[in-house]
This record gives sequence, C-alpha cells and structure tokens, in this order.
Amino acid sequence: MTAAGESAPGAPGAAVRPVPVPDDVSAPYWAAAAGHRLVLARCSACAAFAIPPDQICPHCHSSTPGFVFEPVSGRGRVRSWTTIRQAFLPGFDRDVPFVLVDVELVEQEELRMVGRLLDGPDAPVRLGASVRAAFEDVAPGVAVPAFVLEGAE
Ligand SMILES: [Zn+2]
Repeated sequence: MTAAGESAPGAPGAAVRPVPVPDDVSAPYWAAAAGHRLVLARCSACAAFAIPPDQICPHCHSSTPGFVFEPVSGRGRVRSWTTIRQAFLPGFDRDVPFVLVDVELVEQEELRMVGRLLDGPDAPVRLGASVRAAFEDVAPGVAVPAFVLEGAE
C-alpha cells in the first residue's frame, strides 16, 4: 500500500511525506500527539516508563506489565544528534536538511526518545542542551512529536 506516497493536491508529482499509522498498542500515543500532548507507556508493575512498550517490561521484566499511557513533561536533554542531509525515503526530500536529536527525558534515567529538532538545521544544538517536546502537524488530525530548544541558559 503506497497511497501515502502518491501525489498531493497542489504538488503534482511530488511524493507526500508518509504519516504514522497507529496500531492497537500505539493508538493512545498518537491520539495524544494529535492534541499536542506527549504521553508514554508506564509499567503498572514497577511504574517505569518504556519506549516503546513491549510484551515484557524492560525494567522489572514483568510479563504482564499492563502498560498505561501517562502524560510526561516532554522536557529533556540532548544526548546526541545528527543532521539528515539526504532523504532516503520518498516524501522527505523537501524536509532536508533537518536535525534529529536523541533526548533523555527528565522523567527517568535512560528514558530516550528520538525526534526532529524543529529549530532548523542551523540551530545551536549541543550536548546536554535543554529541549522540550513540540509537535509537527503532518496531516489533518495527525501530529508527530518532535523537540525545540529551550531558551538560552
Ligand atoms: Zn516494569
């Protein structure tokens, strides 16, 4: 199924950036993102967050983690980053260059999330920089979590 990569109205011949397709597990995550809220799966056995939630909790190894999505602050610090200069998938060529950041969220040690940095390819990103979650509206009712730099410290 390649419908998401077909031409968009007003952009003849141009591939459209694919949008995420939620499954049963990730549906609450994407529903919250659409409302520009960040929620993450939290184990009901040990209360640790997991990205992504799996059959077994990566922290307490419970095989019945009963993950529940809970709001998080979206604040964190940059662990690493990379600038994407070439689009390897159709639909992303108009987006390059952009910066991807690997962020450790404040809620939990090693709780890491990768997303775009929306400040542009020349943003003054550095190790340990403070960021907060932001959202890119990519289609009607669909938003993708991303990050922006916090104000200069
Ligand atoms: Zn657990």
